[in-house]
Amino acid sequence: MQSGLENSFAQDLPELSKKCIPTGFQNSEIILKNYELGEELGFSKKFLDSDKCLNVFSGNALLRDSIPIAQAYSGHQFGQFNPNLGDGRAILLGEINNQDIQLKGIGQTPFSRRGDGKSALSPVLREYIISEFMNAAGIPTTRALLALKTNESVTRDTELPGGILARVANSHIRIGTFEFAAMQGAQILKKLANYSIFRHYPELKNTNEKYIKFFAAVCESQTRLVSKWMNIGFIHGVMNTDNMTVSGETIDYGPCAFMDYYDPKTVFSSIDVAGRYCYGNQPAILVWNLSKLAEALIPLIDDNEQKSIEKLTEVLQAVMPSFEKYFYSEMGEKLGIDSINQNNINLIKDYLKILDSNSIDFTLSFRDLSKILNKTKSIEDSVFKNSGDFKKWTEDWMIKIITEKTNLKDITKKMDLTNPCYIPRNHIIEDALENAVNGDMNLINEILELYKNPFDENEYTETFKKPSETNTPFVTFCGT
Ligand code: AMP
Ligand code: MG
Repeated sequence: MQSGLENSFAQDLPELSKKCIPTGFQNSEIILKNYELGEELGFSKKFLDSDKCLNVFSGNALLRDSIPIAQAYSGHQFGQFNPNLGDGRAILLGEINNQDIQLKGIGQTPFSRRGDGKSALSPVLREYIISEFMNAAGIPTTRALLALKTNESVTRDTELPGGILARVANSHIRIGTFEFAAMQGAQILKKLANYSIFRHYPELKNTNEKYIKFFAAVCESQTRLVSKWMNIGFIHGVMNTDNMTVSGETIDYGPCAFMDYYDPKTVFSSIDVAGRYCYGNQPAILVWNLSKLAEALIPLIDDNEQKSIEKLTEVLQAVMPSFEKYFYSEMGEKLGIDSINQNNINLIKDYLKILDSNSIDFTLSFRDLSKILNKTKSIEDSVFKNSGDFKKWTEDWMIKIITEKTNLKDITKKMDLTNPCYIPRNHIIEDALENAVNGDMNLINEILELYKNPFDENEYTETFKKPSETNTPFVTFCGT
């Protein structure tokens, strides 16, 4: 790295963080390194392989110019407001080219409350795998630079091996950061909004009514994000307002997982007993969360509170229609259909009904569809083999495809570029994590390679394509 770290958040918004030097883990080792991402940030391979790197990312040394901080934020967790959350187990080391470099699981901070500030190794590795997959699949996300094993145990229900994740993000500003700033008063709120505009939406900097435009821009980014989640079968699992970034990146891969069989009610998180964050509820929660951002922004929009509320409400009311526009147009692409009109939307809805009523694997269905179209697979050999309603649907679909385009090969090629062949299947991830925690990194390294190109079908990795054949319901735990 040529120059030292920048510390714009620490310096510009001192009211929203507390300085915090990591206590450090003495016996750590780096077990996963993302050389490509390191290079983008200016960390050479030589640096990533050095003792200096190990010392920095295990919290025993600081990078040049680093002002480490823990950020303050509030949040609505499962609908309940908690004013005092903050980085209880994460420390922001600073920024490189506007990218946050954060250590997660690095020990106690002023916001740890009664927590130990630590992470177990397994969820650290889980976040590493899934965030890197999301990036490869074209979904905005925080990234994983390094995973470390602390060689110390953390106490949860049992003693577990500890880990640290070096995470990279466009920023860690969340809706919850705005909820916290709003409680500190309009001046601080305005500073945070200006900072966020400068960092994420610089085109708004010198415009009129920039704060309502900022709200609209965040709505837009998060709407696009959730549409992408829905189109890849991703269930975040804990869409609290402290886990939704204003940049529109996916953050906090605690209890998330991918849906196998299509069912809008799918939920994996052990703590989400009411299904608030189930697959099909994510768009409604998006709007709910954005309404909390709107509430926080009221003092910035207009001197007249009623007018502020009206303006924010107008933007908020456009979120669900905008979500539907993104969702159906991306879903259309997945089915090889370019134009979106009511007929095509009905076709998409019928398709999803077929998946639902026949318990068909969401991911495999789209890949089989393109094979059926280019005649490399028959319906009988596909995931649709037992669904009587599918044949009728394909007739309508073919008519749409043929009226839109003539070259089937181009269509199926395009479909395969938007429909991943490989997703982080729950049973595979669990096997990889169990092996890795026991010291065997082969499977995790193999899938990390595979997930770099999730659209390229590889004949040698048949086992990675399919859902688990056992019917045991899969449950995720909140990684704390
Ligand atoms: P999360 O579930 O990771 O989004 O975390 C929710 C809140 O709990 C955040 O304020 C975290 O910093 C805090 N937290 C989670 N785990 C720990 C821990 N082990 N020690 C201290 N704080 C934690
Ligand atoms: Mg969080």
